[in-house]
Amino acid sequence: MLTVEGLTVTFGHHAAVDDVDLHVDDGHVLAVLGPSGSGKSSLLRAIAGLEPLHAGAVRWDGEDLANVPTHRRGFALMFQDGQLFDHLTVARNVGYALRLRGVGRAAARSQVDELLDLVGLGGYAARMPRTLSGGERQRVALARSLAAEPRLLLLDEPLSALDAELRVRLAADLRRILREAGTTALLVTHDQEEAFAIADRLAVMRDGAVVQEGSAEEVWARPIDAATALFLGYAR
Ligand code: ATP
Ligand code: MG
Repeated sequence: MLTVEGLTVTFGHHAAVDDVDLHVDDGHVLAVLGPSGSGKSSLLRAIAGLEPLHAGAVRWDGEDLANVPTHRRGFALMFQDGQLFDHLTVARNVGYALRLRGVGRAAARSQVDELLDLVGLGGYAARMPRTLSGGERQRVALARSLAAEPRLLLLDEPLSALDAELRVRLAADLRRILREAGTTALLVTHDQEEAFAIADRLAVMRDGAVVQEGSAEEVWARPIDAATALFLGYAR
């Protein structure tokens, strides 16, 4: 279980993340939803160990990760643009993480096939990334992240580069895939529909602070203040 306590990240005199408390239970998906500039990426980077903390702590099962470098945290990060290895086939992109983990060649091949099926890309193994659409690239990136079997998957606006129709479809797929794989995930996004479509719990972020946290239904039914209601899309 991920626990974030009093997390503060500052740039100069500005607190991009201001005293944030959060937790993500094993097998659950939390979406941090907030407008541009509210501190979502800074929060995610701090959890990954890519941004120094001004104050607070990031814990996994109670263990303080302050002295655990990024590559030893067992977390995977996925960004907006997927970042595939362009010179490797789809299968090798996905298999890379398996080989790193020491999975043998034959076992890796069948796991790659399973992962590609999971993300709806069975039959794409031999394709090169440049021949894929944006949505297909994101699916490969997701399969590659899952291949690492991270104890926590951190997703920074994973669908925002896609057009609206594809975003809605992939959001539903992402929800199913994360549940089937039993993945613990923290997603940050400024897109309300994406957050509600993917996550069971929501944390609403504004000006570096989490102003409301609860189940998706609670937050939707009872926004904590007028600004949150507006942001969620209530007409006023
Ligand atoms: P977006 O939805 O646009 O991606 P965000 O919620 O992810 O926004 P952050 O990228 O975390 O927001 O930025 C939060 C604030 O911190 C912004 O005011 C930003 O300008 C500032 N900030 C982020 N990174 C740095 C940095 N490396 N140096 C200085 N200021 C920064
Ligand atoms: Mg961001």
